Parts: sequence; C-alpha cells; structure tokens
Amino acid sequence: MAAYLPAEARKLLDEAQQQINRHAAVGPDGRCPTCRGEAPCQPRLAASAVFARYGRLPRRQTGLASSGPAPPGGA
Ligand SMILES: [Zn+2]
Repeated sequence: MAAYLPAEARKLLDEAQQQINRHAAVGPDGRCPTCRGEAPCQPRLAASAVFARYGRLPRRQTGLASSGPAPPGGA
C-alpha cells in the first residue's frame, strides 16, 4: 500500500465495509432486505461515500450476488 491511512480513517472504512456488507443484497422487489430501502439504499450510499472520500473502493464479496456491473480492472 502506497498511502498510509491513519487509524481513524481505517476504522471508518472498516465500519463502512461492514455497512456495505449488511446492505449489499437486493431483494426480489428491488429493495434492500436489511433496511427495506430502495436499492441502493441510503446506508449503503453513505458507506460508499466514506470510501469515495478516501479514494478507496469497498472490497467485493465473493459468492454474493452483485447488482451492478463489475468495475474495470485495476488502474
Ligand atoms: Zn439497506
């Protein structure tokens, strides 16, 4: 890793990652089964904003159905 993140930032990103994991699924009705918000739900968007703030991307979970196109491979 080139850029070192302070512990506070890593804690925020870790919490955001857990938030995304909790809200990653989309039910058959197009809503998040966790908070019943329309996908992508607000908690997930808020967590994604944390990653964007630090220029990071959330880890993708393997074996979990993803609703969106895969990002282009590494820059
Ligand atoms: Zn949700």
